[in-house]
Amino acid sequence: IETKLPAVGTTIFTVMSQLAIEHKAINLGQGFPDFDPPPALVDALARTMREGHNQYAPMTGITALREQIALKTERLYGRRIGVDTEITVTSGATEALFAAIACSVRAGEEVIVLDPCYDSYQPAIDLQGARAVHVPLRLPDFSVDWQRVRDAVTPCTRMIIVNSPHNPSGAVFSTADLDALAELAQAHGLWVLSDEVYEHIVFDDAQHQSALRHPALAERSFVVSSFGKTYHCTGWKLGYCIAPKTLSAEFRKVHQYLTFCSFQPAQWAFAEMLAQAPGHYLALPAFYQAKRDHFRALLAPSRLQLLSVPGGYFQLADYSAIRDVDDLNFCDWLVREVGVAAIPLSPFYETPPDARLLRFCFAKSDATLAAAAERLCKL
Ligand code: PMP
Ligand code: GLN
Repeated sequence: IETKLPAVGTTIFTVMSQLAIEHKAINLGQGFPDFDPPPALVDALARTMREGHNQYAPMTGITALREQIALKTERLYGRRIGVDTEITVTSGATEALFAAIACSVRAGEEVIVLDPCYDSYQPAIDLQGARAVHVPLRLPDFSVDWQRVRDAVTPCTRMIIVNSPHNPSGAVFSTADLDALAELAQAHGLWVLSDEVYEHIVFDDAQHQSALRHPALAERSFVVSSFGKTYHCTGWKLGYCIAPKTLSAEFRKVHQYLTFCSFQPAQWAFAEMLAQAPGHYLALPAFYQAKRDHFRALLAPSRLQLLSVPGGYFQLADYSAIRDVDDLNFCDWLVREVGVAAIPLSPFYETPPDARLLRFCFAKSDATLAAAAERLCKL
């Protein structure tokens, strides 16, 4: 058959997790916590199932959850959003990203993505018959070169996708980034897809610069988040998209036929958690900052050179002092011979830079981090 996605194979996250199992390695590759969600959340989920919330949810998500998302958004980002018209609950951020792209980008149009970027953007763009235009972030801080982004805009550009805090680098947007993005989007009539799944994981007292904070941006943005990252339950696949009424209406046309609705019991459980324990997401920066600092201290004696981590739950490291091989080979060797799974950086790029970088996930128990660091410090 003539394949529609000739370049797509198995994701590097799946490949590395399988290798980790095969070689009984410590898995710091695929991004997921190795600890459990808050017990109250698990209890709430079990209870909502026993209470009978087991059939189709409303297409847009249950009202109680959309109300809580609206409250949180107003509290954190100062923007009041329409509970019924501007929030759609989705089956993870992945579905929201796909639906946002599918509802707004036509064949022949262009979408700007900033490399390194998350792997699900490109196939979603390709399936529309559109073209991803890759603009590299600056090394070593993964900041945006807005002039390069401006230069990449053509009459065909329809959308720009941004991601702060950033996977894989942890870079976070400043207010100046939001201003530059808003100016560009307004000047060229672009939609913005803002992937904010790590919105609650920002360190050193910095503020998450959500597109929702910026009125001009909020008017033209799909803002996507995920409960999986915030509540340590990546396997539950629940997320949401906030967008202005007209964009949300188009978004819902795709969501309605992609999944129709998302896992109802978890919607009730998150509605309860958000109402009763907002402290959970407020405590997340300190929780993950302690993990970041612990992991970095453990690796300090190693020959890995650690890049700074302003947000998210990934640590980038330069391994060039250890072996002079490309990142795919290094990670393959690391999982087989050293027993630690990591993620190479080149799969996040259209044109990988001449760098020797890999990504570790530090959303792990202290014991897991210590065991991995012990092996890494011997290299
Ligand atoms: N965007 C980014 C940047 C991510 O890191 C992830 C999770 N790996 C997702 C989207 C997908 O989130 P979800 O699991 O909720 O679909
Ligand atoms: N978002 C996760 C990561 O970056 C991977 C999710 C997946 O395996 N698709 O590691």
